[in-house]
Amino acid sequence: MAYRTLNPFNNELVKEYPNSTDQELDEAIAQEYDLYQTWKKQDISERAKILHNIAKYFRDHEEDLAKTCTIDMGKLLTESRGEVELCAIIADWFADHSEELLKPYKIDTIATGEAIVEKHPTGVIMMVEPWNFPYYQIMRVFAPNFMVGNPMILKHAAITPGSAQAFADAVLAAGAPKGSLTNLFLSYDQVPKAIADPRVQGVALTGSEKGGTAVAAAAGKYLKKSTMELGGTDAFVVLDDANMDDVTNIAWRARLYNDGQVCTSSKRFIVMDKVYDEFLDKLVENFSKVKMGDPMDPATTLAPMNSERAKNKLQGQLDAAIAAGAKVAYGNKPVTDFDGQFFTPTILTDISKDNPAYREEMFGPVAQVYKVHTEQEAIDLANDSMYGLGGIVFAGDADHGAEVASQIETGMVFVNNFMSSLPELPFGGVKNSGYGREMSSIGQMAFVNEQLIVKADHSNLANPAGGLVALDPQNK
Ligand code: NAP
Repeated sequence: MAYRTLNPFNNELVKEYPNSTDQELDEAIAQEYDLYQTWKKQDISERAKILHNIAKYFRDHEEDLAKTCTIDMGKLLTESRGEVELCAIIADWFADHSEELLKPYKIDTIATGEAIVEKHPTGVIMMVEPWNFPYYQIMRVFAPNFMVGNPMILKHAAITPGSAQAFADAVLAAGAPKGSLTNLFLSYDQVPKAIADPRVQGVALTGSEKGGTAVAAAAGKYLKKSTMELGGTDAFVVLDDANMDDVTNIAWRARLYNDGQVCTSSKRFIVMDKVYDEFLDKLVENFSKVKMGDPMDPATTLAPMNSERAKNKLQGQLDAAIAAGAKVAYGNKPVTDFDGQFFTPTILTDISKDNPAYREEMFGPVAQVYKVHTEQEAIDLANDSMYGLGGIVFAGDADHGAEVASQIETGMVFVNNFMSSLPELPFGGVKNSGYGREMSSIGQMAFVNEQLIVKADHSNLANPAGGLVALDPQNK
């Protein structure tokens, strides 16, 4: 697919970008590998200063960056501004904490001498990112790896080339050396070529299960470490003693934020029978209040979807769900007021286990609501998914909510609140939602060589219980 910005609000073709050549890819890898060699010897504090500058650049240019993002993929300008600020927060956090997180540490051992684990960069990282948060997805990989000392090549989504280039330009403008992050307009065939290169030592992808499977296969083939941040069918569980004002206030936003195009959007509302009718009435009321319009206009509360392709795919899933017996509690009406890629927010109920919607991720403003009779039924339904990314539990008692949360097989669960992503919190899932974590101290270690150094204590060399001597069969 060609890289181009086609404004989803008005279908205007804004700009097309030529694909990168194999030669450009080779040159980028060579430049990044040279930088990796330099960074290996450089004090980390130099990069911390630059990363703070990048955070400042994002804040100073918030409006321009936000507009570029909204024109690329259609999200509300207010949400784009929030995304730019979140990028600055992530950059500042890794600039402030990486020195501590990347410090060597000692291990208590019976081995002879002193055992230390040092944390080293490993090489160039190939990053493949999606359009739904065009800056934040990049920053989740960029900030920690910039501090580690791993230069990065970016292959962004074909529909958000403006944001990809704006991010790469921001990095350079804030004073990072060339090669810190190289944005290339790569084809699917060029991604495995990059992964095969011995100077590339890590692969980070955020995207669909299908894209993840293809890129993870290449990473496996060439024995490159990888992290996969994939899709989800996150549950929003409402127990019968939950505070329904809080639930009402958060549920519709948990589905419609970013027009429902979030990996951790609440896609399945699982509600105890006692509060089911109240929940559904309020959800319908709130879905009916959203206002479609120009995403640049602060009065608009529902943006267009990112592309005609995505809209058609969602409509196809919705039609199939209805054909298989699901009931429409709200929505499923064509949008006639605008030419852009708008989709009427829709609520489905009565989704049986054999309905395709029961298993699929619906990546847009369609909510599924399920009625359950017991807490155990809620947990079982939440877990009856091949995905395992995030989730939300609402309970009268937050401690009890946390007990329920721990029984949900996903990477992240928030109790009595909206799900949020912050640099100190690990982000990622289990099952077909992928593997590995981004952000936090865990995410920062994804592409670090945790190298063991054992310094022998000479006076203990004769001790047969110490070090390798103990493992040598000749000495047993
Ligand atoms: P996608 O089709 O997998 O695209 C994501 C990225 O992968 C894009 O850059 C895409 O390039 C690239 N790609 C796809 N197939 C590829 C292949 N065979 N070889 C090389 N690159 C390939 O995902 P999407 O549908 O646009 O994004 C939405 C999905 O991402 C949803 O499933 C959502 O849940 C998931 N997501 C997950 C997280 C998380 O953190 N877990 C966060 C956000 C989104 P092109 O654009 O050129 O196709």
